[in-house]
Amino acid sequence: MALFGGKPSVQKGEMVYAWTTDSEIAKRAECGGAVTTFLKYALENKIVDAVLAVKRGQDIYDAVPTLVTDPKELKNTAGSLHCGTLLLSKILAKQLKGAKDRKIAMTVKGCDLMGILELAKRDAIKRDNLLLIGVNCGGTVSPIKAMKMIEEVYQVDPMKVHKEEIDKGQFIIEFEGGQKGISMDELEEKGFGRRTNCRRCEYKVPRQADLACGNWGVIGEKAGKATFVEVCSDKGADLLRRAVKAGALATEAANPKGIELRQKVEGAMLKLGEKWRRKDFGALKADLWGTIGRETARCIKCYSCIENCPVCFMAADTLKGKSFMVQPGEVPPNPMFHLRRFAHISDTCVNCGQCEELCPMDIPLALFSHAIRVEGDTAFEPKLGKSAYTN
Ligand code: FAD
Ligand code: SF4
Ligand code: SF4
Repeated sequence: MALFGGKPSVQKGEMVYAWTTDSEIAKRAECGGAVTTFLKYALENKIVDAVLAVKRGQDIYDAVPTLVTDPKELKNTAGSLHCGTLLLSKILAKQLKGAKDRKIAMTVKGCDLMGILELAKRDAIKRDNLLLIGVNCGGTVSPIKAMKMIEEVYQVDPMKVHKEEIDKGQFIIEFEGGQKGISMDELEEKGFGRRTNCRRCEYKVPRQADLACGNWGVIGEKAGKATFVEVCSDKGADLLRRAVKAGALATEAANPKGIELRQKVEGAMLKLGEKWRRKDFGALKADLWGTIGRETARCIKCYSCIENCPVCFMAADTLKGKSFMVQPGEVPPNPMFHLRRFAHISDTCVNCGQCEELCPMDIPLALFSHAIRVEGDTAFEPKLGKSAYTN
């Protein structure tokens, strides 16, 4: 049977264009609907017991984590939510017992994946029970900031926006009465656009997942209609082979020019990340400890920053007053709590940005921990995004 560009099977490292044969998924999907189809096929065929994905809540600003056990419900999770700044790894470890008692398939951005690998190293997640469908990620926009940006820069009522997408470097909105796109560079110059940790992120194609899916590299008549799939593990190869054989997905070999283009775009995004690192860390270097002291002085000790941090995984104990970060019987003096926290995560911070995103006092926590981690990376292994885990 000629399924994969004339070949009978599929191997780790191969790249294909893939699209769903399910019309409901096709209608709602971001590109070819391959991601939702992989999840649905895995659940229907009992390769996994449940799927952890993200679905739209009230509006485009709500990205809600959802555990699905009925394959029919998966169509509701199709589509990309670029204002979805959530992180799935801690939810998996805390609420879903780290997948130790069941097999779970999930969609992961680079930061979700890095968090999972760190928690797996700490035995808080069972990696072997996971089927990880990675999505390339150019970045996410904080929901509240996105509303402000749409109101002030786009001059559109944010509640009237029913769709958003990021295409060719533009953040594009569709609203009652029209469509408008503005370049991310322009938005970021104005202080909007992607979260600052996303600008510095250098994990664009999640190759430590089982499959890495995206839209970069889909050219020609399949542009916008197919998903670019890179096979990253034997588990991923097996899933792709079975889904195609069952007729759930259609594929063709990726266009060589598309592969080249995808590499170029990835390279350009990495360079842009490097530029942001130089800018953000350069400004900090002059007075790192003084800046940390001043910024953290307004901390109200709510501990949101540790609660969802994928590498501060002793948060529950911390809140009971057992951790070295927060000593029983004292309100930790500034900046001691923060210095202890930075020391604790200095070799493993994955720059997911959750600490900064959730801080009610707008302290630039991810900037500090990322700067410290990157500095450490100049001397120690493994580097950020290059976890020792291999597929
Ligand atoms: P679908 O079948 O539509 O499935 C999409 C899956 O993504 C669903 O499982 C859904 O639950 C999940 N999802 C949606 N929003 C989020 C979120 N915020 N966090 C975690 N999971 C989510 N591809 C590129 O090539 N370049 C990019 O720069 C790029 N940036 C992206 C940024 C974000 C925030 C996201 C979520 C995706 C991005 N992608 C990017 C991937 C691309 O948008 C598609 O997800 C991918 O091509 C798969 O398409 P599909 O039709 O097969 O997915
Ligand atoms: Fe995407 Fe990286 Fe931002 Fe995570 S930190 S949302 S992977 S750009
Ligand atoms: Fe302090 Fe912000 Fe952390 Fe809360 S989230 S403990 S205010 S730094």
